[in-house]
Amino acid sequence: MAQLSDDCFAFGGPMMSVDEAVGLITTRVNAIADLETVALVDADGRVLARDIAAPLPLPPFTNSAVDGYAVRDADLPDSAERAFPLDGRIQAGGLVQAPIRPGHTARIFTGAPMPPDAGTVFMQEDVRIDDAARIVLPPGLKPGANVRPAGEDIPQGHVALRAGQRLRPQHVALAAAFGLTRIDVVRRIRVAVFSTGDELASPGEPRAASQLFDSNRFMLMAMLRRLGCEVSDLGILRDERTSLANGLKQVAGSHDLILTTGGVSTGEEDHVKAAVESIGSLVLWRMAIKPGRPVAMGIIGGTPLIGLPGNPVASFVTFVHVVRPTVLALMGGLPEPLLPIPVRAAFTYKKKIGRREYIRVSLRRGQDGALEAIKFPREGAGLLSSLVETDGLVELGEDITRVEPGQSVGFLSYADLL
Ligand code: AMP
Ligand code: MG
Repeated sequence: MAQLSDDCFAFGGPMMSVDEAVGLITTRVNAIADLETVALVDADGRVLARDIAAPLPLPPFTNSAVDGYAVRDADLPDSAERAFPLDGRIQAGGLVQAPIRPGHTARIFTGAPMPPDAGTVFMQEDVRIDDAARIVLPPGLKPGANVRPAGEDIPQGHVALRAGQRLRPQHVALAAAFGLTRIDVVRRIRVAVFSTGDELASPGEPRAASQLFDSNRFMLMAMLRRLGCEVSDLGILRDERTSLANGLKQVAGSHDLILTTGGVSTGEEDHVKAAVESIGSLVLWRMAIKPGRPVAMGIIGGTPLIGLPGNPVASFVTFVHVVRPTVLALMGGLPEPLLPIPVRAAFTYKKKIGRREYIRVSLRRGQDGALEAIKFPREGAGLLSSLVETDGLVELGEDITRVEPGQSVGFLSYADLL
């Protein structure tokens, strides 16, 4: 388990900016050091544990980039077209043949190895065949055209994949191109997930008239799984200090992170704070972010705990800014900063200076083809429909006080957050 000290989440100021939160997490959360080896087919989404240097150049041998005709460097026509008799036929996967005879050309196909001395290929579309069945090659082609030299993509020995890289399909493809079958990755981090609140019922269980079904736990578990975590579903804890404390204490030793939702505002019936303080340490981060409420950061027996707000949208947004970087840091992953892309606002909005806001928006194409962000008409942090019916979040920085239609704003797609 990742052992952390009780004061590692301590923060001095009254309000914490999103950047301060991420900075604090990345400097104070230690990566777990346990590795495991997985088959290449299971490597997607895992965090690479060691650098991988190219064991062979890519491509491994010099080959033709097109279907066409290969010629010796000395025979390239420079000012007038020239007819070449055929000498040889080289298919992809074929053996490297003997050098082409001087003044001849060889039929060659995409991916086939270049014959020795031949450095250039004419595309079949650019040649004609004369009455004597000779291949007539036009002048002016640059030496080396339509050829992929060995190592042009990646030279042998080059560190092509870095430790900490979260593997995506393209990284898996590169490992396969190196001929690797097994990959050393960081073991999955184990996250215990609880919901808290007397008003919650689990889907599939009876719901009293004053209860609602617990949705956050399923959202958070799905988000964690998308980040590559192993998730323990620990159900709902009641709003009662002792049972909360017992529930949390039980899982601390066997998990790398505890995630709770609900019960961390400062109301009388918010018991998570007192429960954690009775068995470990806890600080409330008052983040300058909307939607968002205080986020609880705690340590129980060396295991970090994050307590997210109960309102679904606040829970979603604070997950992205607090849980995501914590999980990446625990996994030893390279930082993956969120980079909003510019789109055009199609809404008016007023905001307070000094805090960051996230507006739920849908994208559409404007008349000129540019992307426009349409604000979801309602703002409540409890509206699940606002997450379901939009495409992502517009990020409004601390300095912004107003948005006018036509203004450029930064957009984060839900698809890019996890
Ligand atoms: P709390 O953070 O406990 O004050 O809860 C704030 C609001 O979010 C209340 O209306 C709760 O009913 C609601 N809420 C809390 N937990 C959940 C949950 N797991 N799923 C859906 N809504 C929740
Ligand atoms: Mg509650």
